[in-house]
Order: sequence, then structure tokens, then C-alpha cells
Amino acid sequence: MKQIRITSSKFVRVKCPKCENEQVIFGKATTTVKCLKCGYVLVKPSSGKAKIKSKVLEVLK
Ligand SMILES: [Zn+2]
Repeated sequence: MKQIRITSSKFVRVKCPKCENEQVIFGKATTTVKCLKCGYVLVKPSSGKAKIKSKVLEVLK
């Protein structure tokens, strides 16, 4: 699985690798974002940048 670092202030649509739930998250999230369905950690903040630990389906403008 590819890990993508989103540095710009954009919303991204991600898919949970565990339960395939789709969720829209803020690309510059500074807090841990968990899947609403199963609790899998989708985004982990790391040194000011959000590290997306799930599949990015789309970057929303
Ligand atoms: Zn999930």
C-alpha cells in the first residue's frame, strides 16, 4: 500500500483498507483520524504533516 503525504490544505476521499468504508478527511489533519466504522487509523499526524495511511481515492478541490 502506498502512503501519501498531503501537504496542501485539501480534502481527500480515502478508503479504509480494513472495512472499505469511504470517508472524506482533511489532508492537513493535525489529529489522528480514525475510520468511523471500524476504528482503523486512517491519518496520523507527523511533524506538521498528515500521513495518510489509507488508500486515497480522490483529492477534492
Ligand atoms: Zn474501516
